[in-house]
Amino acid sequence: MKKNYLIILTLILIISVFTGCTNNLYSSKVTADSVNTQSKPSEQTKPVDNSVSENTAADSTASESSASQNTQDAQASDTKEIDVIDYAKVKPNESGQIMVVMFHNFVDTYPKGNNEYTTTFSEFEKLLPELYEKNYRPVSLSDMLNNNINVPAGCIPIVFTFDDGTSGQFNLIEQGGKLVVNPKSAVGIMEEFNKKHPDFGLEGTFYVNLGVKTFTGAGNMADRLNYLIGKGFEIGNHTKTHVSLPQVKTSQKMLEEVGGNQVLMNEIVPGYSFNTFSLPFGNASKNLKEYVIHGNYGGLEYKHSAIVLVGANPAPSPVSSKFDPMALPRVRSTGQKKVECDLAWWLDALKKGSSQYISDGNPNTVTVPKDKQKNVDMSKMKGKQLVTY
Ligand SMILES: [Zn+2]
Repeated sequence: MKKNYLIILTLILIISVFTGCTNNLYSSKVTADSVNTQSKPSEQTKPVDNSVSENTAADSTASESSASQNTQDAQASDTKEIDVIDYAKVKPNESGQIMVVMFHNFVDTYPKGNNEYTTTFSEFEKLLPELYEKNYRPVSLSDMLNNNINVPAGCIPIVFTFDDGTSGQFNLIEQGGKLVVNPKSAVGIMEEFNKKHPDFGLEGTFYVNLGVKTFTGAGNMADRLNYLIGKGFEIGNHTKTHVSLPQVKTSQKMLEEVGGNQVLMNEIVPGYSFNTFSLPFGNASKNLKEYVIHGNYGGLEYKHSAIVLVGANPAPSPVSSKFDPMALPRVRSTGQKKVECDLAWWLDALKKGSSQYISDGNPNTVTVPKDKQKNVDMSKMKGKQLVTY
C-alpha cells in the first residue's frame, strides 16, 4: 500500500495540474449531423482511435467530419449537439478505479468508545462540498454495474453505500401532519446539498436487515422504504438479522437469512427486488456462497448481481479486466480517527492521472488513454464504444 502511494505521488509530480470539470473543457462542439451516426455501438464494437497523428477510427467519415482533432461516435440519435472534449485537458480514463464508499452510523457527537465506523452530521456536511469541489459526482451502484456512468467530462464517479439501516442514515419525522425526512440525517443532509447543487445527484444504496429495527423514527416501514425509493435511492440486501455468514451452517438457515430478507422486502414494498448484497461484518460464507448469490425462499426467487465487501480499496472500473461484481471492494468512511485506506486517506492518495476513473462526459463511450487500453475487457463494455487517445 505504501509503495503504491509513493508511485502515485511520483505520478502526480509528473502530470500536469488538472483544471476541473467545467464546460471550458470542451474544445469544440459539433452537431450530430456532422459526425457519423450510422454505426451504432454493438456488443463488440471496434475501438475508436482518436489520436491526431494516426487516426485509424472505425468510421472514416468521423475523421472527416470536423476540424476538431477529436471526434466521438455519436450514439444518441436524438442528440443534436455533441460535446467534443479536449483530451489533453480532461485526461479521461474510464478504466480507472471508482470509490464505493461504505457508511454506517451517523451521530451528533461521538459517544465514548470505538467510533471507527461512525460519522458526525457536521463531518458529513463538510464532506459533501469537499467531494463536490474535487469533482466527485455520486452515481448509483446499478449504473456502475451496468457501465452506465453519466457524469460530466473531467468528473469522478463515486458510489455511496450505507449499511445496517441506522436512523442516523435516514429517518422520518412528522411536520405539520406530514412525514418528512429528518434534516439531521445523512439523507436529509444530502437532500439539502442537492438543492444547492443538483448536479451532485442524489444517489446511494441502503443495505438493510428487515428482521431488525430499520430507520427507526416516524412512519412505518413502507413509509420509510418508499420514501427512499421515491427519491431514487436503491435498497440492498444485508440479511434478515445481520447474521455473520460463516456461522450459518445449513442451506435452510442461509435461505431464511438471505431470501427471508427479500420476502420481508416484498411484503413491505411489493415487487421490489434487491439487486445487490452487502456481507454483514464483511464475512463471506465458506461453503454456502451460492445461496448468497441466488436462491428461492418461500416461493420467491432472488438473485444478486453484485456482492459488496468491507474492503479497503477503490473498486476497479466496470470495464476493467479486474472488475468482479461478486467481490466488489469498498472504501470505509472516515471515523473519529483517520486511518490508512479510509475515505480521507484515499481522497489524498487518489489523484488525477493515476488510477482514478475520470469521465469523458459521454455515457455511450468508454474513453481511455492508449497505454491503458490493455486494462479494458471488451466483453464488459455493455454496448458502449471504446475510444482511445
Ligand atoms: Zn452491517
